Amino acid sequence: MIKVLVILIFRTIQGSLLEALQDFLCIIYSPLPTPSSDTLIENLKLTQLQIELDCTICLNIMQKEGIILGCGHIFHQDCIQKWLKRNQICPVCRQTVTLQSLQS
Ligand SMILES: [Zn+2]
Ligand SMILES: [Zn+2]
Repeated sequence: MIKVLVILIFRTIQGSLLEALQDFLCIIYSPLPTPSSDTLIENLKLTQLQIELDCTICLNIMQKEGIILGCGHIFHQDCIQKWLKRNQICPVCRQTVTLQSLQS
């Protein structure tokens, strides 16, 4: 846990707080993150949103569009792309994100 905090503080100084937070969540949620394939990332389709929702990765509001995963959770395109490049699971419910789940 101390190691995780050191990494978090180090990354916060180095880069953005968002990236540090993502690293932190990745480390806590999954000891062995599986990066997604490029094909999976390319298959993330933007969907028009009827209502304003909060993106649970950056906690900012999604105005018009977002990426809906197979499990139903919605995120900013940039946020979920960055996340999935590191870890092929939904950051909220930890369900594995598959090509089939995106296309259904
Ligand atoms: Zn976001
Ligand atoms: Zn989910």
